[in-house]
Amino acid sequence: MKILVAVKRAIDYNVKARPKSDGSGVDLANVKMSMNPFDEIAVEEAIRLQEAGKAGEIVAVSVGPAACQETLRTAMAMGADRGILVQTDDEVQPLAVAKLLKALVDKEQPGLVILGKQAIDDDSNQTGQMLAGLLGWGQGTFAAKVEIGDGTASVKREVDGGIQTLTVKLPLVVTADLRLNEPRYVKLPNIMKAKKKPLDTVTPADLGVDITPRIKLVKVSEPPARAGGVKVADVNELVAKLRNEAKVI
Ligand code: AMP
Repeated sequence: MKILVAVKRAIDYNVKARPKSDGSGVDLANVKMSMNPFDEIAVEEAIRLQEAGKAGEIVAVSVGPAACQETLRTAMAMGADRGILVQTDDEVQPLAVAKLLKALVDKEQPGLVILGKQAIDDDSNQTGQMLAGLLGWGQGTFAAKVEIGDGTASVKREVDGGIQTLTVKLPLVVTADLRLNEPRYVKLPNIMKAKKKPLDTVTPADLGVDITPRIKLVKVSEPPARAGGVKVADVNELVAKLRNEAKVI
């Protein structure tokens, strides 16, 4: 069973995102970019399934500018067998990514597609669900455990207050949550080996997909600054403030 894994190049999770001065988007000039953390978990899961003899080839896919090659090389250094870059400098929204992934699924015929549950830059949490919808496949989102059986998979999902266990038919779309696994560190020799792995580049037009945005970003702004705290003299003052000022009791 071939696995397709979607890896997005996103703002590094250690970087504090700042809006551009005109509010037209997030300022990405000179900002460190990395693989979206949930996608590292997705790649790790694909590799573990391969190591367990449950999967064959792992194909990593990234959609975006030429710099996404780096993200694909990281996926290949972790253990993916090859990469496909769908290259475009245009804005690509989740529905367009889902359509591009669908076109690649039609071509590559994987039995499983693993994505991150969400990209930490746009926090959309949409692409995996849209892909499953477009393909007419089952989906196991927010996955905390994936076990591949005979023609089906068991997916444990993180839901509010507990874990939900699903049995879903293969082929299947899975989106990775935080507790699915802990991604491995990439070792230097593997970075060197990854440079020799095949990386194909296609364009949205090659795949026959129109990526015109459907949603208009109106404004990006900082959250309001938090007001400073105050010290209260005693419990009576605290209760009075909670009742009269915060109005929470
Ligand atoms: P989102 O729906 O934008 O929160 O993204 C959910 C997941 O879809 C991500 O964790 C990735 O696995 C995948 N994805 C979204 N955008 C891209 C992209 N441009 N290239 C590759 N994968 C993507």
